[in-house]
Amino acid sequence: MHPLARWKLRAVKPYVPGKPIEEVARELGLKEPIEKLASNENALGPSPLAVEAVKKALGEMNLYPDDEAYYLKKKIAEKFGVDFDEVIVGNGSVEIVLMLGLGFVYPGESIVASQGSFIMYKIVANLIGADFIEPPLGEDWRIDLDVLYRAIRPDTKLVFISNPNNPTGTALWRDEVEEFMNRIGDDVIVVWDEAYYEFVDKDRFPDTLKYVRQGKNVVVLRTFSKIYGLAGLRLGYGFAPKKIVEVLRRVRLPFNVNRIAQIAAIAALDDEEHLRRSRELVLKGKLYLMKELQRLNIPYAHSETNFIFVEFPFDAGYIYESLLKRGIITRPLAGYNFPRALRITVGTEEQNRKLIKALEEILGDREKIWNISKTSEVEGSPESL
Ligand code: PMP
Repeated sequence: MHPLARWKLRAVKPYVPGKPIEEVARELGLKEPIEKLASNENALGPSPLAVEAVKKALGEMNLYPDDEAYYLKKKIAEKFGVDFDEVIVGNGSVEIVLMLGLGFVYPGESIVASQGSFIMYKIVANLIGADFIEPPLGEDWRIDLDVLYRAIRPDTKLVFISNPNNPTGTALWRDEVEEFMNRIGDDVIVVWDEAYYEFVDKDRFPDTLKYVRQGKNVVVLRTFSKIYGLAGLRLGYGFAPKKIVEVLRRVRLPFNVNRIAQIAAIAALDDEEHLRRSRELVLKGKLYLMKELQRLNIPYAHSETNFIFVEFPFDAGYIYESLLKRGIITRPLAGYNFPRALRITVGTEEQNRKLIKALEEILGDREKIWNISKTSEVEGSPESL
């Protein structure tokens, strides 16, 4: 019998999310609180204004959502100073990544994104049968825009740049982005994926919406999943010139953003207090974690996000498992080709302290780690931790 599934799908490895709390509790039989520092969610929870708005709207669940998401898009357009027609919303920003692939790339054409970048770009390329070109990361776990530029082929339609980059947390700054944008031609679409935009140092960060307003072939992606604390509702948004939005509208499924998510997001956009508190918690937590990681001699990448990328001199599997046993879920990055690294979300003060205490205990037994890690074929000794 001939296989029923499209054979190209063999290249698709399903996305592996951070382990859910319920799963860890079930598998390890843990009773004590489990800290999820694996998916870069907001440790403060959702915006209280959003929670209130959602409570009021629950009784209308029988009604389809507004397919156009009119009030939400209007609010986003006003807040960010773009036209209504330049806004697109999706079931998480990942849906917009897929819509871009479906709308612009034929099978056999190519998509470019840096190695060690958000894995969904690769999954979407494989899903639609496009070639995925993956030039290496630069120094200090940063995306190298020159290398990325040189990887673009005549058949490249989309270039995805996660800025700041997930999973390394590093940012590209205004001048280098400007230089890259001056070099780039009109025959590709550059997608600036700014899921962690609200956490960055704005004095140095590029204003990519400027390129949208200029009508360049640029898409800027943002999300309500991170600082707004609405990951569970699935809502991402993006900005692009009208000609690009028009194409995306054609590949969009009806009612792709649910009713509750639209209502929550409209309220959350007004919640400056929640935004400020969330940012402060992350900045303070990050300073604490960086100081402690230095003390423990654990190398990390400079983060402009709500997570920290740490890289051990040996396979991180044992550390990941040991943290899990202590009720702390982090994100292993072997699937991103970083077998020695973990990505750790900045949590509440208490969660951060618990993490450091656990790391300290685990690393205390260096001899044991070394024996376990010796088999992992990764060079480096825990002595150099
Ligand atoms: N882009 C990047 C760079 C991300 O890190 C994430 C979340 N992991 C997303 C997009 C997806 O966010 P959303 O929840 O909006 O789909």
